[in-house]
Amino acid sequence: MAASSMEVVSYQRVSKVFNSETVALMEFDLSIKKGEFVSFLGPSGCGKSTALRLAAGLERPSNGTVKIFDKSPKKVIKQTNDIAFVFQDANLLPWRTILDNVLLPLELRGGNKKEQKKEAIRVLEMVGLKDYLDYYPRQLSGGMKMRVSIARALAAKPKILLMDEPFAALDEITRQTLQMELLDIWQKEEMTILFVTHNVFEAVFLSTRIAVMSARPGRLSSEMEVDLPFPRKLELRTDPSFSQYV
Ligand code: ADP
Ligand code: MG
Repeated sequence: MAASSMEVVSYQRVSKVFNSETVALMEFDLSIKKGEFVSFLGPSGCGKSTALRLAAGLERPSNGTVKIFDKSPKKVIKQTNDIAFVFQDANLLPWRTILDNVLLPLELRGGNKKEQKKEAIRVLEMVGLKDYLDYYPRQLSGGMKMRVSIARALAAKPKILLMDEPFAALDEITRQTLQMELLDIWQKEEMTILFVTHNVFEAVFLSTRIAVMSARPGRLSSEMEVDLPFPRKLELRTDPSFSQYV
């Protein structure tokens, strides 16, 4: 099969074995195109995080290849800001304010300080936190911290957003609010999103496609990919009254 120019992420017969015994992924095949919102769905231990970490260049395959824009993920991470990561636990720096947390990837990239600040405020506004710039992470709820983490990822203007169970620890209302915001941002920024979850409803609600992974060592066969029937480019509305709970 010829690689499409729209192909953003590709896994080709990827296996990952830890300590020569734990098989996390076994001949995993998946090709993800620009603008897709792909969920990796499956039970605990089936290799979802491993699949994501491979795309982020944080792990190397034991066998097979993972490519981002036809290059190695490590190279893409080193040379561009095309990939950003959101983890389950938000991972904020406690000694930095919200604004400074979001500024971090921009500072690392360098450039005009005023522009950096403008951009950080723009993304914080996008996730509904522009009134909290001077707060510290400990002063925020779990949902707010997750919003900061998403804002920080977006500040880097990634083409690909990798999210590992970002909403798992949140209450239902907060989760739904952030899900709607994420869909809204995904459409506006035209990103490709790889999203890990073990929640079937979340996967069905968010994704354009679901990669269903089996509990047996990280297997995914192409016939197990689920193409969702929804016409994507949904009309999205977030009920502003939800935000008071977050
Ligand atoms: P999931 O995210 O679906 O819960 P993981 O990708 O975290 O699954 O893990 C898949 C399998 O690989 C599990 O059996 C896990 O214990 C193992 N594993 C993951 N990371 C490591 C590691 N760094 N060292 C050893 N084993 C690991
Ligand atoms: Mg995991």
